[in-house]
Amino acid sequence: MSNFKTGGPFVTRFAPSPTGGLHLGNVRTAILNHLLARQSGGKFLLRLEDTDQERSTFAAEAAILWSMSWLGLVPDEPVRHQSLRLHLYRRAVDGLVAEDRAYPCFCTDAELEQDRKEAAARNLPPRYSGRCARMSREERAERLNRGDAHALRFRLPEKPEVSFKDLIKGQITLPAGAFGDFVLLRSSGWPSYNLAVVVDDADMGVNLVLRGEDHLTNTARQILLYDALGLTAPAFAHHGLLMDPDGKKLSKRSGALSIPECMEMGLEPLAVVQYLASLSGALPTKNLFTSLDEMARAFNPFALGRGNAVMSLDELTALSARVFRAANPADQIRQLDETLPAESAWHEFDPQVRLHLLTSLRENAANLHELRALLPLFTEKEARFTSGALTELAGSLPVLAALDQGMSAHSPNSRLEKDAAGAVLRGTGEKAGAKGRKLYHPIRLALTGSENGPELATLLTLLPAGLIRERVQTVLNIFSHCNHKE
Ligand code: GLU
Repeated sequence: MSNFKTGGPFVTRFAPSPTGGLHLGNVRTAILNHLLARQSGGKFLLRLEDTDQERSTFAAEAAILWSMSWLGLVPDEPVRHQSLRLHLYRRAVDGLVAEDRAYPCFCTDAELEQDRKEAAARNLPPRYSGRCARMSREERAERLNRGDAHALRFRLPEKPEVSFKDLIKGQITLPAGAFGDFVLLRSSGWPSYNLAVVVDDADMGVNLVLRGEDHLTNTARQILLYDALGLTAPAFAHHGLLMDPDGKKLSKRSGALSIPECMEMGLEPLAVVQYLASLSGALPTKNLFTSLDEMARAFNPFALGRGNAVMSLDELTALSARVFRAANPADQIRQLDETLPAESAWHEFDPQVRLHLLTSLRENAANLHELRALLPLFTEKEARFTSGALTELAGSLPVLAALDQGMSAHSPNSRLEKDAAGAVLRGTGEKAGAKGRKLYHPIRLALTGSENGPELATLLTLLPAGLIRERVQTVLNIFSHCNHKE
């Protein structure tokens, strides 16, 4: 029996239904499949299970493909669409009908609904009653000749106890009677999920199916189908589900975070991948990775936990901020180059200044959105002062006057080196007789209008000397004007 060590290289797949976008719960399955395939030197495949014609949409399909690419989960072969493979399902089911392993079912929706109600009233599972399984040959032939609408159902073997070794959960046995004869082909000619999955996984050479444990009973049905079709079943591994912190299962309907939402929040794709893989215990969170390949090398499938994983948005955001601060600055500079408006002074800064701004500012930002919000301080001439800031500044004019004087020794277009910035601050403090908060706070407010931001000495290295003086003088002028009036 294969296991994670000897079973590879693994050909895995992710098989979402394009009935909605991807949320963190289903993306986690994609990530584990991707990392396992890469780690074992196998292949990662993507299949769109678009057989629910009413609920599948092109918009959802586009969102899935776009999300996968944002995360870097690129499949190794062209994406398959089940809607383009109907002939394969038909062929497989025809073979089963010929061997009497599948039979036509003429039950109407109303009849099936009635059966379900009766079963529920008797506290029984909603299993197919077997009505059409027992139909005589003659009646069946007659109704088929008449062209009556029918589905094709799988005839379960006697006592279908299904036993298999799950690579994560160990030996699993599902009792006989956990489910009834199930539909393979609907009356519309479209396949059921279970038929399409088996035909496709076999056809695509998938040798490991890694998915959520909510599919365990499907796995039992699928194993019976592999057997009936004379196909070798892949290995199966079922991981625990991703839970909200309140212990509820994440689901498309519970408003779980979607990938486009992650992007809007400024989360780093590498952090999303690492965080979701680490929740299963299969990747550490201590060290950061610079690529999915690096993660794949460190990926430990043996650590995949059996239990459910609880997701914390705070932890994900914190990891993302770490990834953001450690990322290659050149990539982030390129993103700013491409996204800041043409009139932004950012584009006039020379490369060293851009690099210096980026690496300093990202210490105070958790993502590119936050960093972008800090930029106007450096790219716009005017700082915006709140009335609170101005009130506070009114009591600190000697500090500002001293800073203005200290800066006058530097040419307006130059930026201070760190040492020079330290010297200016010390000189200002001595001259104005101020230190600590009384020295730093008014300078920060005068230069940025804000209470927060980069460390003060760094701030002095980020703004051109002329701009520092202009901002300080703006404040001094406001108050000199007021004093005249008094
Ligand atoms: N289309 C199924 C789903 O989205 C795929 C399940 C599977 O991996 O077989 O749940």
